[in-house]
Amino acid sequence: MSETYDGENIFAKILRGEIPCFKVFEDDDTLCFMDINPRTDGHCLVIPKTPCRNMLDATQAQLAACMKTVNKVANAAKTAFDADGITLFQFNEAAGGQEVFHLHFHIHPRHDGVPVRAPGIPGDMAAIKRHAEAIMAALQ
Ligand code: AMP
Repeated sequence: MSETYDGENIFAKILRGEIPCFKVFEDDDTLCFMDINPRTDGHCLVIPKTPCRNMLDATQAQLAACMKTVNKVANAAKTAFDADGITLFQFNEAAGGQEVFHLHFHIHPRHDGVPVRAPGIPGDMAAIKRHAEAIMAALQ
C-alpha cells in the first residue's frame, strides 16, 4: 500500500475546479464544501488547499489553517441549524476509516437525541444546496 499523496483524488479535482462542489467558505489556505452523502443536515468538509493525505503527514501550518476554518464554519453551522452541538469526524488511512486521501475534517451539526445517519447514502442535491446557503448566511 502506497502512502504517498495522489493528485487524482476527488478533493484535489474539486480544488482544481475539475468537478463541482457546493462551496461554503474559502480563504487563502482552506476550502469548505458540502458532503454529498450527508450524515447530518449541514454535513460539510474542511480541506487544506495544499496537498497532504491526512492528519499524519500534514504540516502544523496545514492543521492550523484547517482548524481556523473549522472553528469559523462550525459556529456558523451551529447557528444555521440551531444545533445543540457539533461533532467533528476525521479519519486517517483506510484502517482509520479514510476513503478520500486528501486531509479533511467533517463538521456535523447535532441535535439532542438525533443520531448521525449511515455513511455513503447520497443526499438530495436541492437540500444540500439549501443547507450550504444557510451556513453561508450565518457566516456573514
Ligand atoms: P472519509 O475519507 O471516510 O472521511 O470520507 C470521505 C467523504 O467524502 C465521505 O463522507 C463522502 O461522502 C465524501 N465525498 C466523496 N466524494 C465527494 C464529493 N464529490 N463531494 C463532496 N463530498 C464527497
